[in-house]
Amino acid sequence: MKKQKLGHAFDFQDPLDEASEYLKKAIGFLGKNKIAPTPANYAIGYEYVSGRNAALVKDIEKRSRRSGVVDSHLLADLFETYYANDPGQEFESQLCGIGKVLANVLKGVSSASDGVTAFGEELESHLQALEASPSASGIKEIVAGLLRATENAACANRELQEHLEEAQEDALQLREELNRVRRESRLDPLTGLFNRKMLAETLDEQIAAAEAGGAPLSLLMLDIDHFKRFNDTYGHLIGDEVIRRVAAAVKKHIRGTDTAARYGGEEFVVLLPDTDLSGATTVAGTIHEAVAKLTLVKKATKEKLPGITVSVGVAVLRPGEGGEDLIERADQALYHAKETGRNRIVTEQELDTGSPPAAAMG
Ligand code: GH3
Ligand code: MG
Ligand code: MG
Repeated sequence: MKKQKLGHAFDFQDPLDEASEYLKKAIGFLGKNKIAPTPANYAIGYEYVSGRNAALVKDIEKRSRRSGVVDSHLLADLFETYYANDPGQEFESQLCGIGKVLANVLKGVSSASDGVTAFGEELESHLQALEASPSASGIKEIVAGLLRATENAACANRELQEHLEEAQEDALQLREELNRVRRESRLDPLTGLFNRKMLAETLDEQIAAAEAGGAPLSLLMLDIDHFKRFNDTYGHLIGDEVIRRVAAAVKKHIRGTDTAARYGGEEFVVLLPDTDLSGATTVAGTIHEAVAKLTLVKKATKEKLPGITVSVGVAVLRPGEGGEDLIERADQALYHAKETGRNRIVTEQELDTGSPPAAAMG
């Protein structure tokens, strides 16, 4: 099965002359697209002109071919997809923290048990002394010794108690931290939907499950129509709100077993397990309708924003294929929907009927 490879090591090892050449080209690429050469943008620009990451090059060229808009939003999406911290690494450092807590507990337990052992040994030696010389002064000395030993043991016990309490508090904090990292590494911060990395993982799992269970798996690719106009006319904050509202509408109209993800900018992917092409087209229709009903009002002026529409591409998994191929087919259907007027749903079947009939191919 072909897996989606998204993460990429942030290690540039090119020799000076090659790197200098890429620098010029990367700055040229950013300048041409009026994108500020911040470190993150530069890294993506460098990666693009060096051509070493084929998937990233494909992402940029597809965008550039289709809409001509290569901007800082796209670069931010790509940075997040290809370079953002690998959640696995964060988990590892968290686990390291847990290891330290456990080591401390063990240290506390062992020093406390040392104290208890010493207490036992001291008792033993006092008992022996008592047997050897049962005099009054001897007994006084032994009692004093016992009191000392008891005090030491109680002290070691208190220390152990404190160690355990501290460790429990640390462990609780770590657990909360782990949950937060896990949540954040999965979700797109603007919409709360899965991010692209998580989609890739889920897609692989769902494909394996569909193959094992012989059930269909469908995929929708949605893109907000003429979204750039919202940004250009009302500003980016309203643009963001449009993305959030569409995401919420998508989420509201899918089942718990379905997965909705923000694929990038104003594009979404929905995974529909146990759903064939006709079922998926129905879901696409429901979402399409729900988005069309959304109303947005600009708070400051009470101005009603123009209606929002989406175009949708629908594809169903073919035997033996990987996630990238499935996404690609849904994307082609989406592109076809855009080319044929937008605000509509196109299934992969319609793409097939778009090809010339066998007889005419001569
Ligand atoms: P089409 O109907 O062909 O899809 O046209 P479009 O205008 O929706 O698509 P295009 O790809 O030309 O523009 C999408 C724009 O979305 C480009 C980018 O600046 C913007 N964008 C991407 N991510 C974000 C974001 O997170 N917030 C905002 N406000 N804008 C974004
Ligand atoms: Mg788009
Ligand atoms: Mg769009």
